Amino acid sequence: MSDVPQDAPESCPGTQSEAAGKASACGGCPNQKICASGAPKQQDPGVKEVKWRLASVKHKIIVLSGKGGVGKSTFTSTLAYGLAQNPAHQVGVLDIDICGPSMPKILGVEGEQVHQSGSGWSPVFVDDNLSVMSIGFLLQSDSDAVIWRGPRKNGLIKQFLKDVDWGDLEYLVIDTPPGTSDEHLSLVQYLAETAVDGAVIITTPQEVALLDVRKEIDFCKKVKLPIIGIVQNMSSFICPKCKHESQPFPPTTGGAQALADEYGLKLLGCLPLDPRIGKCCDEGKSFLAEYPDTQTAISYQKVVNGIQKHCETT
Ligand code: SF4
Repeated sequence: MSDVPQDAPESCPGTQSEAAGKASACGGCPNQKICASGAPKQQDPGVKEVKWRLASVKHKIIVLSGKGGVGKSTFTSTLAYGLAQNPAHQVGVLDIDICGPSMPKILGVEGEQVHQSGSGWSPVFVDDNLSVMSIGFLLQSDSDAVIWRGPRKNGLIKQFLKDVDWGDLEYLVIDTPPGTSDEHLSLVQYLAETAVDGAVIITTPQEVALLDVRKEIDFCKKVKLPIIGIVQNMSSFICPKCKHESQPFPPTTGGAQALADEYGLKLLGCLPLDPRIGKCCDEGKSFLAEYPDTQTAISYQKVVNGIQKHCETT
């Protein structure tokens, strides 16, 4: 959370929260007396700094998934490439998956350096109109593990939001870790005064994945983050040889469509499992540019168009 002191325990509820100083996590914390005193809660100045920095970003889209392994980062990169198909649109990708930053590799800019200037950190350019910032650029090597506790993660997210000099962007797509963790809370709190278009939730069709999506929807409701819609990834697999279509993750409870109907949300589209997407990600290439006429690219394009339409009309 944005308001977690460095010396607070990892499960600190945040000094601005109602539970500050009273939660079980507060027992033994050196700040307990101040937090429990009921003194007026101060807003973190970072919220205003983020507002100022992102004033030049027209649309902000947060990509969420209940579970890992549902193709969230692949989706984020393809969405960014799709939005950047219009050369008049500058698009940025912010990778706040601190423990597993994959955007530099997926976008083909692994090993690039982030430069700092008087106006902040410069993102790395993938194309003339597509740039990315990720903690992956700050690690010494791909196999470096990031083991950070809550307060340090929060500090980095704040820095990413307020210090990256994106310039004028039409779209900023934010890739988050799976689940609902410190990173999500920090993100939402720092974006509190900037208009976020909403979240896109990625899932696979089987019930075990949908269960986690319910938690994600609940999180969005609690933090008042609008939901643009749900995307069902890995919906089907078409054998490239015999063209037989199968469902690797059967939607035994109706899949994302039933979930979307239940919550009154929009199903933005169903994307097939296509090994060529994985290959493009490994090679840092755009699937939409490499295989534009495939059924998979057409399905992706429909989702990209739906998100774009939502942003332009709300
Ligand atoms: S007393 Fe509780 S709310 Fe205050 S800093 Fe410590 S853990 Fe966080």
